[in-house]
Amino acid sequence: MKKECSIDLIKGDITSLDVDAIVNAANNSLLGGGGVDGAIHRAAGPKLMQECRKLNGCETGEAKITNGFELKARYVIHTVGPVWHGGNGDETDLLANCYQSSLLLAKENGIKSIAFPCISTGAYGFPKDLAAMIAINETMRFTKIYPIPERVVFVTFDEENHRAYRKLLEQ
Ligand code: ADP
Repeated sequence: MKKECSIDLIKGDITSLDVDAIVNAANNSLLGGGGVDGAIHRAAGPKLMQECRKLNGCETGEAKITNGFELKARYVIHTVGPVWHGGNGDETDLLANCYQSSLLLAKENGIKSIAFPCISTGAYGFPKDLAAMIAINETMRFTKIYPIPERVVFVTFDEENHRAYRKLLEQ
C-alpha cells in the first residue's frame, strides 16, 4: 500500500523554503522575468541564469530542471504557465500540463518534497479559483499513483490565492 502524500499550504516567499525542489513560474525564454521568477533568480544567484541559458527555452505546459545554487532547495523546476485569454483556448489543459510535467520531473529525479507557486495567477492573469482547483486536482491525481514526491507544498503569496487553496483543501 502506498504511503499518503502530504499536501501543505504555506503563505510566504517560496525562495525561503527548505524542500528538495521549488517550482518556478517562468516564461518561454527561461531568461528571467518579474514576479516569482525574478525572486527565484535573485535568491539563487547568477549561476541559475547561466544554466537556464543552456536550456533553449521551454514550451508552455512543459518543464525543465536546474540546480538550485544558493537556494536551500537543491533543484528548481521551471515550468511555463499559459497566459489567460478568456478561457476559450486550451488554457486549462496547459496549466494542468504544468503540474503534470513538474511532478513527473520530480519523480524522475527522486525529489521527495516539492513546492509550487500559484502558476499563471500573477502577470499571466489566470483566474485564481480555477487555477487552485487545477493545481490541487492534478497534484492529487499524480500523488495517488506515484510514491514520490512524498510532500507537496502549495505556496501562496496573496490573500485571494490563499483563501482559494484553503477552501479547496478543507473539503
Ligand atoms: P505568472 O507569469 O505565471 O502569472 P507571476 O510570477 O507573475 O507568474 O505570479 C505567479 C504567482 O506567484 C502570483 O500568485 C504571485 O503573487 C506569486 N509570487 C510572486 N512572488 C512570489 C514569491 N517570492 N514566492 C511565492 N509566490 C510568489
